[in-house]
Amino acid sequence: MNLSEQLSRTAQEHPLKEAYIFQEKSVTYKEFDVLVSRFAAELKELGYAKGDHVALVSGNSPLFMVGLYGALRCGLTVIPVNPTYTVDEMSYILKDADVKAVITMDVLMEKFEYMDHLLQVEHYIFADTGSGVDVTGSVLYEKMKPFPSMLQDRNLSFESPALSGDDVAVILYTSGTTGRPKGAMLTHTNLYSNAIDVSDYLSISSDDRVIATLPMFHVFCLTVALNAPLMSGGTVLVVPKFSPQEVFEVAEKHKATMFAGVPTMYNYLLKTGKDYVDTFKHMRICVSGGSAMPLALLNSFEELFNVRISEGYGLSEASPVTAFNPLDRPRKAGSIGCDIRGVKNKVVDELGDEVPTGEVGELIVKGKNVMKGYYKMPNETAVAIRDGWLYTGDMARQDEEGYFYIVDRKKDMILVGGYNVYPREVEEVMYSHPDIHEVAVVGAPHPELGETVISFVVTTNPLLNESEVIDYCAEHLARYKIPARVEFMEELPKNTTGKILRRNLRDYVSQS
Ligand code: AMP
Repeated sequence: MNLSEQLSRTAQEHPLKEAYIFQEKSVTYKEFDVLVSRFAAELKELGYAKGDHVALVSGNSPLFMVGLYGALRCGLTVIPVNPTYTVDEMSYILKDADVKAVITMDVLMEKFEYMDHLLQVEHYIFADTGSGVDVTGSVLYEKMKPFPSMLQDRNLSFESPALSGDDVAVILYTSGTTGRPKGAMLTHTNLYSNAIDVSDYLSISSDDRVIATLPMFHVFCLTVALNAPLMSGGTVLVVPKFSPQEVFEVAEKHKATMFAGVPTMYNYLLKTGKDYVDTFKHMRICVSGGSAMPLALLNSFEELFNVRISEGYGLSEASPVTAFNPLDRPRKAGSIGCDIRGVKNKVVDELGDEVPTGEVGELIVKGKNVMKGYYKMPNETAVAIRDGWLYTGDMARQDEEGYFYIVDRKKDMILVGGYNVYPREVEEVMYSHPDIHEVAVVGAPHPELGETVISFVVTTNPLLNESEVIDYCAEHLARYKIPARVEFMEELPKNTTGKILRRNLRDYVSQS
């Protein structure tokens, strides 16, 4: 079984159920499955066959969904790419991934004109987004195929190629801290099993309506808000761009039952949500992941919206989910929960030996969700996967009841005069200050101590000053953990998934 086969099965079970709703237009499972098959047949007609690589460069839209499932049904390997990437970033990925076709939007064609001479792309399959871009003027016009025409009924004969669970379905480029991004190869089994397990774990059913506003090209949305509901007959509510207003509107109009977001999204929803609490009244569960959910935020959000947030943990290399707070056992705030089915999480020391319960070490994971390896990077793969265990680079501990707690990224740890400072601990304290909306803590080089703690704060109170923040920290933290400096910012730098870019802040402090 794989994602595309299971989609056909869902379509047989729930033919008239809405698979997705996008800009007020709903598409049933039966219709969706037909579109996927037509697109797969057209890809085959264009000459693409099992093993070919196709990039999917699009925001959240039917183009993304039909493009993904159609290409998978045709046996192709899909490379989802962030559409906001620069020409350099994008051309690096398209070249490295040996992409032969690009599925994209008309508004991005200008970017491809810049990079086409570097690439061996045979076709650009593009959707008309109504932006008025005149694609007939494009120098790539010869290579361009309008997406809607590929969805028309032409009665092409199509038979899905035989696929094995070990065949690569998707290559996800993850931005490592150093060097160029690496392509994590996720197999059909990796993605299918994680979608099914997440769906079971969260009890997703055909009654669910799930808001998909995280970017679909990111693995969190891909598995949790897209594949998991589609495997169970739920409805995906497609929200192309996150804004609290849009989320509240869609939640109310379509009686959303599930929301998946990163903590910064919860922060925005909380900040503007007082008058919109009712729009969440059908919400069964909210899921948080991608980065640490601050306790103060979790508590305030749950209190205001009267809905439980279940925090989970994952990474691209694990398709992504490895742990979740169980629905059938007590939820532990601040924890990422327990092993999901078929996945084992373990905390180990530098030698790879399991540490005693309660002690901090690196989190490693094993299971059918773990990637095949990095594309064309055997050395990096050998470092990441040892004895079948994926080394996550995250520091964690486990309690007596099997719940895991992420302490921080290994590389984010700050060493102050020989003491370890985990930014998350300092940030948790700062988040509990009533005037602090957002905070990030990084290390800055220091001549005597090695490093010191620097904090960046977004405040809701323009009168808040540095010494007040430092005094507040001093009430709750040991001396060496207290920020030496507090910088106030309008906004913290974030990537398109909403994760705070600590790397940018580190660069900033090392230059200032
Ligand atoms: P990505 O591969 O982009 O999905 O990023 C994966 C990384 O996000 C992990 O290695 C963690 O550092 C971080 N992450 C994901 N979920 C959590 C969580 N619940 N708490 C803390 N960090 C998380």
